[in-house]
Amino acid sequence: MSTSAVATTPEQALSHVRQTQLLIGGEFRDAAGGKTFDTINPATEETIASVAYAQQEDVDAAVKAARRALERGDWAKMDARDRGACLYRLADLLEKHIDELAALETLDNGKPIGESRNVDLPLVIDVFRYYAGWADKIEGDTVPIRGNFFTYIRREPVGVCGQIIPWNFPLLMLSWKWGPALAAGCTSVLKPAEQTPLTALRVGELALEAGFPPGVTNVLPGYGDTGEHIVKHPDVDKVAFTGEYKTAQQIMSDAAPTLKRLTFELGGKSPNIIFADADLDAATQGAFIGLYLNQGQVCCAGSRLLVEDSIHDEFVDRLTQMSENRKVGDPFSEETEQGPQVDQQQFDKIMRYIEAGKTEGAQCLTGGGRDGNRGYFIRPTVFTNVRDDMSIARDEIFGPVMNIMRFKDFDEVIQRGNDTFYGLAAGVWTRDLSKAHRTAHALRAGTVWVNCYDKFDAAAPFGGHKMSGQGRELGQLALESYTEPKTVTINLDG
Ligand code: NDP
Repeated sequence: MSTSAVATTPEQALSHVRQTQLLIGGEFRDAAGGKTFDTINPATEETIASVAYAQQEDVDAAVKAARRALERGDWAKMDARDRGACLYRLADLLEKHIDELAALETLDNGKPIGESRNVDLPLVIDVFRYYAGWADKIEGDTVPIRGNFFTYIRREPVGVCGQIIPWNFPLLMLSWKWGPALAAGCTSVLKPAEQTPLTALRVGELALEAGFPPGVTNVLPGYGDTGEHIVKHPDVDKVAFTGEYKTAQQIMSDAAPTLKRLTFELGGKSPNIIFADADLDAATQGAFIGLYLNQGQVCCAGSRLLVEDSIHDEFVDRLTQMSENRKVGDPFSEETEQGPQVDQQQFDKIMRYIEAGKTEGAQCLTGGGRDGNRGYFIRPTVFTNVRDDMSIARDEIFGPVMNIMRFKDFDEVIQRGNDTFYGLAAGVWTRDLSKAHRTAHALRAGTVWVNCYDKFDAAAPFGGHKMSGQGRELGQLALESYTEPKTVTINLDG
């Protein structure tokens, strides 16, 4: 897939705002009672558009449409290979509209246009193509049982899926949800985050153009209460959620009465471990991107940077220099490397952590404050002398705040690396192959990257140990959570 420069202005991006209504049963419509909310451009703090705000009645209608599509009509009858063809066509349409979608994503989320266009969108398209290929390869099994019987296991769609996604990678999270769900033959009621509803609505429109029958892909923008209605709905079979662990706890409790299937992809406080024998240039670059990508708003950000004693000071100097040079500003400029945080709430949260770091005794080497006086921009921030018990070392900051800590030996770094209730990801940098394997095996994390970081692929499962989630997204494993096995036994003497 080619990458390219994109000449876009905020005004051009605004002209791409097409759909702001709810998508229910193949039609765009206002929310019950005409309720709306504003979505804000985080770079200017100006309102982009007023978007329909889904209420209980709308959730009921969307779930009904999704149920109907699942059990009757074209989707229910469609051959698996044709479901795959719909996914391929959607991927083609996303590619055709790639510049428009990238501009919309940048407008609503604030991520630099180069990242939207050349990182997020290509991954999104790849995820849809990957699952398109899976649609007709979800096979069952035959089982030899006692007696003259033929027993086989079918893998059926789990059903109507409530899919609740966050604002940090709006399109990518949509693709991680819709890709496996639609390949497996499920239907979806998707709630984008209140901060970033625009691209999901546009992809909903493109999904209809791609040939997904009405009711298969419903999109309901709204706040937490919209999500709660979806979770509590008795006719939703499964909820897939990405976001904060506290919201997941609430969802688990709300889903208990109906015993829904649940998968969660939650946060992290991922250790990124740099051994003294690492390729320092590569490790510095990996540590830098592993923290600052997407303004630090990444669930697997390498936010505990553990550096071996003998290279610690040089590493700190390099990262401080690189952080000072990072270009923060207008996300529509091709030069920009870091845009604004997504909203006032996230901005305030990060600033609170920066202040806590300073008062708890960490040393702030660069950054540590707001950038400019309009928009939610924060200067890339580096802390050293960080102790493991400080809040900046324990909590998910979700911002451009780097904590660098030193370690002396292998056992110590493994113990400290695992000393967190999260377990999403980890990084290891070393030229010693056996040390790389030993470290990867000893860390309790769903993903370990060795001599790389943030290497995502549609085929590589992603998810967390401990409080970082349950179940896996991406790869073949994600399909398991979107299918329900059914055992069929036939009496061959009958
Ligand atoms: P949330 O977990 O609140 O939001 C994620 C999604 O869940 C949003 O669509 C949200 O809706 C929805 N939601 C909120 N409450 C409920 C509920 N009771 N039932 C169902 N759905 C609900 O995260 P925040 O956006 O508030 O961010 C808080 C922190 O979470 C961040 O600072 C970061 O630390 C972490 N986070 C982690 C992410 C990850 O990738 N793992 C992604 C985003 C955040 P609404 O849009 O209205 O909030």
